[in-house]
Formats: sequence, C-alpha cells, structure tokens
Amino acid sequence: MMRKQSVIVPEELAVTTVMAVVADPAAHRSALLQPRSSALGVRCARYKRFLSQLDMGSGGGGGARISAWVDSMRASSPTHVKAAAMLSASFAASHDEDYNNRVKQHPSALSVFEDIVAASKGKQIVVFLDYDGTLSPIVDDPDRAFISNAMKETVRDVARHFPTAIVSGRRRDKVFSFVRLRELYYAGSHGMDIKGPTKRTKHTKAKTKAVLFQPATEFLPMIDEVYKALMEKTKLIQGSRVENNIFTLSVHFRCVDEKIWSSLAELVRSVLKDYPKLRLTMGRKVLEIRPSIKWDKGKALEFMLESLGLADSGNVFPVYIGDDRTDEDAFKVLHGRRQGLGILVSEVIRETSARCSLRQPAEVQKFLRRLVEWKRSASLPRRTEARKK
Ligand SMILES: [Mg+2]
Repeated sequence: MMRKQSVIVPEELAVTTVMAVVADPAAHRSALLQPRSSALGVRCARYKRFLSQLDMGSGGGGGARISAWVDSMRASSPTHVKAAAMLSASFAASHDEDYNNRVKQHPSALSVFEDIVAASKGKQIVVFLDYDGTLSPIVDDPDRAFISNAMKETVRDVARHFPTAIVSGRRRDKVFSFVRLRELYYAGSHGMDIKGPTKRTKHTKAKTKAVLFQPATEFLPMIDEVYKALMEKTKLIQGSRVENNIFTLSVHFRCVDEKIWSSLAELVRSVLKDYPKLRLTMGRKVLEIRPSIKWDKGKALEFMLESLGLADSGNVFPVYIGDDRTDEDAFKVLHGRRQGLGILVSEVIRETSARCSLRQPAEVQKFLRRLVEWKRSASLPRRTEARKK
C-alpha cells in the first residue's frame, strides 16, 4: 500500500531504505530494530515488492504508481543522497551491507571478467550499449550529455572487434550526433527506430543493405499531437522539458523543483488520458510516452541479432550494458535465451534481471577496454605466447 503521508522516518535516510519505507513504513520501522542481517532481508523483500508495484503495464498509468515513482525519485535526489552520506556510522554500515549483498548476487563484470570470456569461448560476442548513464554521465541538461573522447575511442575499438549497437530511449539522430561513429547500429526511441551501420565493417556483409526498421510509424501523428499538447500544458512549469524522440516522448524532471514533481506528473497523466493507445513508462527523472505496441529494447536486441544472421545461433554471446529500467527488457531476453550477459550499471541496490553489475560509466569503459585487449591478444596467440616465454 502506498501511504506516503504516513512516512515518519526522516527524509534523509539512505536511498534504498527510503524506498522500502514508501512501500511499507510500519514494517520498515520494525525491521530497523531487528538484527542487521535479518533487517536486510526484510528491506530487500519490501524493496522488491515496491518495484513490482512501480512497474508500468498498459494504459495511461495509475495515479498510485505515479506518486510512488515521484516518491522514489525524491528519495534518490542529490540533496537526499548527500544528507544520507552524513548518517550515523551504524546506518552507513548497513547500507554497505546492502551493497555487498547485491554485489554477491550481481558481481562486478570486472571481477568476473575471466569467467565471462571463458563463457564466450567459440561464440560471437555482440555488444549492446545504452547511452545515458552508461556511456555518458547523467547531467541536468539532456542536450549536454556528451560522451568523453576516451569513451568514444573505446567504443570505436569495440566496434572493430565485435558487432556493436547503441540502444537508447532518445531519438536515433540525437544519439548519433553525440557518438558519431558510423560503424555502429543505432536503436533510438527504445528500439522503435533502428538503423544499421553506414560504414562497412568486417561484420557487415557486402551485399546487405543498411538495415532500417521502424515498427511504430502509424503512431507518428498521434505522438506529434501529444507532443504539442504537452508543450502547451507544461510551458508554465519552470525547468520542465518535453523531448520529442519522434516515436516516443520524454518529459524531463531533472531541472524541475521537486516540490512540483507530483503536479507535473499528474499533468502528464491528464494529457495521456485521452490516448489509450499510448502508454506511460518511468525512468530516471523522466516520464516517457510511447506507443502501446509490444516493442522494447529487448525486442530491438533480438531484431539486431536477426539482422546479423545470429538470431537462431547457439554460437552468439550478446553482452548488454545499461542503467535504465527500460534496459531490463533486454536483460530479460538474455536471461530467457540463457545466452550472453546482462550488465546493470548502478551505484545503488536494485532488483534486476542482469547477471553482473558495474558501478558507473568509468567502470563500463574499463570493462570495454579489457574486452578489446582480450580480443586483441586472443587473435595474436603465437606472438603473445612467444612474449610470455
Ligand atoms: Mg540509460
């Protein structure tokens, strides 16, 4: 039950704990009084339930789910996180314990790197990368989410050795304007707008035409209409921003005063009420509007494997790295196929279908570099062996 008014615990508690409090304040307070290990179990269970309540199905999105989402954003906003850092030592220790527990379940892809390459032996690795929060840091102005030169070089090297795709909620041309590597696949609008490499690589077959796939074109006029309505209705809300991703829309909360997050969310929901064919999903400080077709980042992953001729192959090892809730669809596909590896990029505890984790873009870069170096040395076995002797 969401009873946000009854939250008594101070707001500045650590992120995971506040989320648990939102799910069930009474149970959480009693959990805090229990020995630490058992309290951790209770918190994890509450957190899982909280997330399942947050999951958006179809339709315009219920008010309770939206207010739960706003609460969870407040809990993870910088002011609260900073305050959380000043908490008592005992509480900080229990937060570390949460983190350590998660790392046990979803080990760092860097620490199990050797196991990963061993599992990929004899298989074609295909690399899928989310953009925001995975290759670039999350910043206040989405237009300034630049990729560093070092990361760009790393992605270029990855694409030299493996078929590589960027899968983002943003519009495809926007992601391309940041990355500017023609040798990649780009899947924009959560995979609803896919384009293959325009520069030939050793992975592209000479005779194949550049892939272009857009499963939701019929929704374009409707999305445009909603875009105009949202622009009009949100123009007085300071800091709010509606981004037109062509096949989807994003309403950004990053620069909006958190006191009016609920009003903005409610406003978005009220616009959506008249469009039952569109649905609302929730990301990191962003509400997203998209066609209610069965298409997501997971389907996009499968489509790209197919266009590489690898869909039915047992000899493919897809690696998908992402930080967003929408990346879970891709993690689930890999989990279901029992193939490859999902890697969640996250600093805080979270329920995920990814098998491994990395903390932030810097670790993503480290992992990708190791992958490139491993491939380079693997393709020069004799020289490497000779050097060892
Ligand atoms: Mg992301």
